[in-house]
Amino acid sequence: MEKILIVDDSALQAAKLKSILDDEYQVAVAQTAEDGLYRASTEDFSLILLDVVMPGMDGFTLLKKLQEKIVTQNVPVILITSLSDVENEQRGLVLGAVDYIVKPFHSLIVKARVNTHIKLYHYRRQIEEQSMTDQLTGIANRRKYDGYSITKWQEAVRLQVPFSICMFDIDNFKKYNDTFGHPAGDKVIAAVAKTVSSHLNRSTDFFARYGGEEFVAIFMGDTSEQLFEHLKKIRQSIEDLHIPHAASVAEWVTVSIGGVTVLPPTESPYGVYLKIADTMLYDAKKHGRNQVVWADEQLKQLWEK
Ligand code: GH3
Ligand code: MG
Ligand code: MG
Repeated sequence: MEKILIVDDSALQAAKLKSILDDEYQVAVAQTAEDGLYRASTEDFSLILLDVVMPGMDGFTLLKKLQEKIVTQNVPVILITSLSDVENEQRGLVLGAVDYIVKPFHSLIVKARVNTHIKLYHYRRQIEEQSMTDQLTGIANRRKYDGYSITKWQEAVRLQVPFSICMFDIDNFKKYNDTFGHPAGDKVIAAVAKTVSSHLNRSTDFFARYGGEEFVAIFMGDTSEQLFEHLKKIRQSIEDLHIPHAASVAEWVTVSIGGVTVLPPTESPYGVYLKIADTMLYDAKKHGRNQVVWADEQLKQLWEK
């Protein structure tokens, strides 16, 4: 059920609005702008119905704050107010409200407008989600990774938590395609993505298709030793799928894995460490493929084989 937040200092008005929407939506009420800002920042709402005239912070000020915060700026806001003049309506819409309803309101009109904006918000989220997902594998795509990696790197620098970048590449995949055909190759890419995903369970584990038959993962909070062990298991689990490969290092489809654990995260750009992870992957390939090569916190190399 979609969640709606009503911000109104009048308990009576809020209760009236709530009763209109209660049957279709999960409705929360905040009686001050401050509380509204807090709830909007900490919970997932699909729409905010905002009163303009309130003691303390008013609705326009709250709207401006919501628009400035990354976590709330995409949540649609409908202003509901007794201010019926054009200037105030214009002000609200310019500030970013999606709609403006003048009190006293008509229940059916409120409901119809709410339904429309919820629907639009839903579509937008769906499209955003699709644009960040790789079609073949269903995991995050390169676009998602590009934004996520930089945000998380900055977070790690700020919080000083261990940060790891990991690259995966399917071994001798060109030959696989040449032997079994491109559609069969696509299935292998999907199977590898599924197997790796099934081993990444923490909310901070991130895994994306980097491009072609290459994947990238980001981990936060783990030591190089922990990750090295974990990735060896993941590499083995791909080999254990026993997908026949006629012309590779093993009888089966395998992957090479390279990565680096950074501690403490520094002001150096993210790209510096991505390059190190890529070098580790290159070393894994050079050293015979189907193995993990990791650069630890001191940039000392850990070799699986
Ligand atoms: P290495 O072990 O050194 O990684 O060898 P490789 O053959 O895997 O490496 P290379 O980068 O030369 O070839 C990658 C191949 O992956 C080339 C391309 O045909 C194949 N490939 C890339 N994207 C896709 C895809 O979406 N589907 C399929 N089926 N094949 C893909
Ligand atoms: Mg490759
Ligand atoms: Mg490859």
